[in-house]
Amino acid sequence: MLTKDKKTYDVDFIKSQFPALNRKVWDKPLCYLDSAASMQKPKMVLDSIVNNYSVNYSNVHRGLHFLSEQATISYENSRVNVSKFLNASESEIIFTSGATAAINLIAYSWGNTSLKKDDEIILTIAEHHANFVPWQNLAHSKEAKLRIAYFNPDDEFDIEEIKKLATDKTKLIAFPHVSNVLGTIFPVKEICQFAKEIGAISFVDGCQGAIHFGVDVKNLGCDFYCFSGHKLYGPTGVGVLYGNYEILDKIPPFLYGGDMIDEVKINKTTFADPPLKFEAGTPPIVPAIVLGVAIDWVNTIGLDKIFEHEKKVIEYGFEKLDSINGVNIFGKNKNKAGVISFVMDCAHSHDIATIVDREGVAVRAGHHCAQPLMEAFNLVSTTRASVGSYTSFSDFDRLADSLIKVKKIFGDL
Ligand code: PLP
Repeated sequence: MLTKDKKTYDVDFIKSQFPALNRKVWDKPLCYLDSAASMQKPKMVLDSIVNNYSVNYSNVHRGLHFLSEQATISYENSRVNVSKFLNASESEIIFTSGATAAINLIAYSWGNTSLKKDDEIILTIAEHHANFVPWQNLAHSKEAKLRIAYFNPDDEFDIEEIKKLATDKTKLIAFPHVSNVLGTIFPVKEICQFAKEIGAISFVDGCQGAIHFGVDVKNLGCDFYCFSGHKLYGPTGVGVLYGNYEILDKIPPFLYGGDMIDEVKINKTTFADPPLKFEAGTPPIVPAIVLGVAIDWVNTIGLDKIFEHEKKVIEYGFEKLDSINGVNIFGKNKNKAGVISFVMDCAHSHDIATIVDREGVAVRAGHHCAQPLMEAFNLVSTTRASVGSYTSFSDFDRLADSLIKVKKIFGDL
C-alpha cells in the first residue's frame, strides 16, 4: 500500500507520508540527509503515538482493569513483532531505552560477572562511542585489555584484522553491523562464527544495520544484537536488545526494582525469567508499542525493496559528490549502506553544514561519535549525508548544488 501499484518503488509516494519531509526550512523545501542520526516518522507511526497516549494508555503488567490489559497486550504484541523482525524468540527480546542502554546493560550485567583481570575484548576502530566507551570502561575497571581491529576505510573490512588479535584470553568481540561514518558493511556472520570458535561472545551494534536490511540473528549466529527505535522510523526512548537466551538466563539483572521480580521476601528476592528480568520499572510503554507499528510500516514496503532503492541512491550520491573537485569522500569503498562521509579542501565541515542548511539541506557534521576513527585517520570531523526509504536522487542533486555554493563562498571556484 505504500507503493501505489505495489510493484515499482514510488519514492514520492513514500515521502508523502512523512509530514516533516513536506515542510520548508529557510523558506526552501526540506532536503533531509540526516537519517542515520534519526529517521523521520511516517504518519502511521505519528498517529499511533497519539492514539496510544490518548485512548489506549495505561501502565503494563500490573493492572487488572481493561486499559491496563489492553496496553499489556499491545506491549507484548510489539515484542512478538520485534522477535519476528529479528528471527528471535520473544523471550530473547528486551526493550531498553535505546541502543546505548542495551550495550551498557550487557557491559554491566555480563561484563561485571564474566570478565576477569587480563581478559581481552576486541573492538574495531569504527565503533560509535556507544559501542566503545562502555567496553573501555569495563576493561579499565576489570584490568582487562582492549584490542582494536584497524582497517583501511577505502576497503572492505577484512576479518583477518580480528583473527590476528584473538588469543585464548579473548572473551568478547563487539563490532558494528554498519559503520555510521563510512557505511562499511561488516561480515557479521563470519565474525560471529569466529567468536564462537574461540569461545568468545559476539555483540553486534546493529544501529545502522537493522534500519537498512533484514536481520536474522539465528542465521548470523550472534550472541547479542541491538538497535534503536528512532532510527527505524519509530519513536525515541525505546531500543531493542536481542540476547541469546542461554546467556540471558545465566547473567544477573542490570537494574533492580518493580516488574523484574519473581518474589520478594524481606531477606531474599528471586527474579523473573528473561526478558522481564532485564526490564525493571515502568518500561517505555508507548514507544515500545509504536516501534511495533514502525516495523509494520517497514514491512508494508519490505526492507529488501528499501535497501535496493537506498543502494541506488547511495551510488548516485557517491558519483555526484565524487565528481566535485575538492570534495574527498572518506571511505571510498562503494559497497556501503546508508551514509556517505566527505571532507572538502576549502571548508571545515561545520561551515559546510551551516551553509547547506541555509539551502534547506540537512546533513550532519562533526566526529559522529566516532573519535577513535577520526583520530586514526587524522581527521577532526567530516560532513555526512545519510539516507532512508524516502531519499531520492534529487536530494543529492540539491546537496551537490549547495556544495558548489560552499566552494564559491570559500573562493574555490
Ligand atoms: N551505534 C551506532 C552505530 C549509531 O549510529 C548510534 C547512533 O547514532 C548508536 C550506536 C547510539 O544510538 P542511540 O543514541 O540511539 O542509543
